[in-house]
Amino acid sequence: MTRKIIIIGAHAAGVDAASAARKTDRTAEITLITKEKKPAYSRCGLPFVLGKHIKEFDDLVVFPERFYKMMKLNLLTETTVINVDTKAKTVNITDKNGTKDTLTYDSLLLATGAGPFMPPVKGHEKNGIFVVRTLDDGAKIDNAIKSAKSAVIIGAGLIGLEVAVACIERGLKTTVVEFLPYVLPVLLDKAMADNVQKTLEEKGMNIIVGKGAEEFLGDDKVTGVLVGGETIPADLVVVATGVRANLELAKNAGVALGQKGIPTNARMETNIKDVYAIGDCAETINLITRRPMMSQLGTTAVRQAKVAGTNAAGGYSTFPGGIGSWITRLFDTEVGGTGLTEFMAARSGFETVSGTINSKTRADYFPGALPIKIKLVADKETGKLIGAQIIGGEEVTQRINALNYAIINEMCVTELAKAETCYAPPVSETWEPITLAAEMLLRKLK
Ligand SMILES: Cc1cc2nc3c(=O)[nH]c(=O)nc-3n(C[C@H](O)[C@H](O)[C@H](O)COP(=O)(O)OP(=O)(O)OC[C@H]3O[C@@H](n4cnc5c(N)ncnc54)[C@H](O)[C@@H]3O)c2cc1C
Repeated sequence: MTRKIIIIGAHAAGVDAASAARKTDRTAEITLITKEKKPAYSRCGLPFVLGKHIKEFDDLVVFPERFYKMMKLNLLTETTVINVDTKAKTVNITDKNGTKDTLTYDSLLLATGAGPFMPPVKGHEKNGIFVVRTLDDGAKIDNAIKSAKSAVIIGAGLIGLEVAVACIERGLKTTVVEFLPYVLPVLLDKAMADNVQKTLEEKGMNIIVGKGAEEFLGDDKVTGVLVGGETIPADLVVVATGVRANLELAKNAGVALGQKGIPTNARMETNIKDVYAIGDCAETINLITRRPMMSQLGTTAVRQAKVAGTNAAGGYSTFPGGIGSWITRLFDTEVGGTGLTEFMAARSGFETVSGTINSKTRADYFPGALPIKIKLVADKETGKLIGAQIIGGEEVTQRINALNYAIINEMCVTELAKAETCYAPPVSETWEPITLAAEMLLRKLK
């Protein structure tokens, strides 16, 4: 009998799961359902269209229509799943014309993702206040930028800073307001974050940390933001204060929920038979703390999706968990990290030792050599590496990836300091900066 697979959400997680399912079962009937007009575009690229590094929002669409035909995927766009019955194994849908239907499944994948969190600040419903999640959000912000002179961004996380950079690139006087005491507060430790803040301020970004937005001012349309009793003029405001998993459907279907997302086992199965959860709505086990975390990164979504898609189609695959690896580029500076910051490690009960060094990305004498700053964090008791943060002019990504392998494979700082690395003047220093940071950390550990 033909296997029926339904996937709710046709984005990073949903579409990658559909691909994996198709590769596992050539004959399965696979249905992908999304509320949105366009499936699987890169949300990650939105700030870079705003900054004009990418020409059109449509350039972010990852798969052309023919992909879905070629993979024999039944794609339902502008269609909402309103209810799931896990006993009858059915989902109720309604399309943009209000036409309702009931579909049956053998395997169901919840890839419902997450939505932006809007804090309950007075005046948040005014015109000119945006969130950034969808192509429509991007187009609205782009349009507002065209006639604006000033912007205020609420939240100095990755998305907030990427959008703030774009606003400056488009010529707007831009202020970022962060409630916590430093930028990228969940991802960097303070000294590293201060370094990033200084770089951004040198490029003209006004950054206020340790204060929240108290009120959005103006009549119908926003004209300013009240912060610490002072008014910051704003022709547009972008709120980037994190996301919350879309859990309504899962909750109503009786799927067990964790603190912030849907817990699964290593095969991405929920507590209900034949129901899987993946991507921004699913929890991930942190391989260092062994506790659930919300990764909410595209990279995690697609890895979980491959596993769930394979399993839902009758194959066998497991997802090991993750440690959270991230990267961005803000103007000319790359910033990335993997594992735990010292702050987060302390909150998880680790006693830590860290080592930070400043080096260059090429031989010092070679034209174009750029600064790079590396911080490594180790568990004091075991000497194992548990975190890394890097700020540099180039080559940050692959160093973060290498350090991710080291942490996941429970490498001790002693081993890392002895690693064999490569060197040639145009591409690296004689001593790899990671090695120098490991040696620095080792001295402190001893
Ligand atoms: C501006 C921005 C920049 C980012 N940059 C990066 C980056 O550089 N690197 C990185 O790794 N990650 C990045 N991310 C995060 C990444 O985009 C997400 O992790 C990824 O989109 C998660 O994919 P998903 O499929 O789980 O969920 P989503 O992308 O949220 O997709 C879920 C889909 O399900 C649909 N849906 C929900 N409920 C229903 C329903 N009942 N019926 C029908 N459809 C439904 C939603 O409308 C949505 O289309 C960024 C995100 C944003 C917004």
